[in-house]
Amino acid sequence: MNIETIKTFQTLKTPFYYYDTTLLQATLQAASQAANEHGFNLHYAIKANANPHILDIIQSHGIGADCVSGNEVAQAVASGFPSEQIVYAGVGKSDEEIRLALEKEIFCFNCESLPEIEVINMLAGEMGKKASVALRVNPNVDAHTHHYITTGIEENKFGFYLYDLDHAITACREMEHIKLIGLHFHIGSQITDLTVFRGLCLRVNEIQSRLKEQGIILPHVNFGGGLGINYDCPTCGLIPDFASYFQIFADFFEAQPGQQLHFELGRSLVGQCGSLISRVLYVKEGKHKKFVILDAGMNDLLRPALYQAFHRIENLTSVGEHEKYDVVGPICESSDCFGKDRELPLTNRGDLIAIHSCGAYGEVMASRYNLRELPGSYFSR
Ligand SMILES: *Cc1c(COP(=O)(O)O)cnc(C)c1O
Repeated sequence: MNIETIKTFQTLKTPFYYYDTTLLQATLQAASQAANEHGFNLHYAIKANANPHILDIIQSHGIGADCVSGNEVAQAVASGFPSEQIVYAGVGKSDEEIRLALEKEIFCFNCESLPEIEVINMLAGEMGKKASVALRVNPNVDAHTHHYITTGIEENKFGFYLYDLDHAITACREMEHIKLIGLHFHIGSQITDLTVFRGLCLRVNEIQSRLKEQGIILPHVNFGGGLGINYDCPTCGLIPDFASYFQIFADFFEAQPGQQLHFELGRSLVGQCGSLISRVLYVKEGKHKKFVILDAGMNDLLRPALYQAFHRIENLTSVGEHEKYDVVGPICESSDCFGKDRELPLTNRGDLIAIHSCGAYGEVMASRYNLRELPGSYFSR
């Protein structure tokens, strides 16, 4: 961040999210280009960041939307994402949400259970519509990521189990208001080991060849999201390696003739463009530790408390000797801690602190816990 930007920060009320829109544009450009090279379809996972200005920018790149609630579907449409590029997933879609998605004529419902598809069939019938559906399959592939964000192994709540798939397909084909168009997979988030995606391709190949033996070929395969970012060293990897990621699917997935591939990237598109900016309220000396107490708390950025997530922390306004600090928030919870034993230059009340790589699952998870104000947002220009 340059001096001018930091000067501007000094005039703003903290805490707030700062978004580097130049980086966001460059990241979207890189992702679109890498996907287009193979003719792959991109959908942005809105749950990663639903800030309206961020959505405007993403939408302007011609990317579709991946939604996990009715309100996200409504927001996607309001932000200008074309309905025919909107997909909608989630284990617990309510009747009201399903009706809304049917009304908006979205591209596809990614479905996770037969009872859900039966309800969609019934509601679509009432509305005189036919719903396009993809079955989310739990491929039993371990994403090698934190267990809270692993979704593709057999003992979690997501998707159809492999042994249920044939039955689900038969059932869908008997429903008058359901059009089965594809298979959907999403095995987890913050996946940095790309061989995991190769494993996913090979597993999906097996599933497809088994279905093919029964004469079943579906026109769409959606591989979900999950590509990780570099939290340890944001500047080492500001733009994720989209080319290598998509190349894996081009190399290892055996697409059937005419089959379209879809991806739902969230974190990798927006993660590095956002930082949480806050001020130091107090520096407190314990017996063995020094604490930097920020005016930002876990209500502004939940990831460290929720997933034990690591974020790089920078003092933007001090250049003193380095010392070790625990960097904490003001909230009455022990988990309200952004980093332990972090090396920072000598830190004082009033210093500006940036917590980096907060563009994804940051502002969207902010709450008013302790009746605190929601953080603001500020964009580079
Ligand atoms: C969360 C989610 C995504 C996006 O995941 P990222 O790790 O942010 O890329 C994609 N698809 C589904 C179904 C999701 O739930």
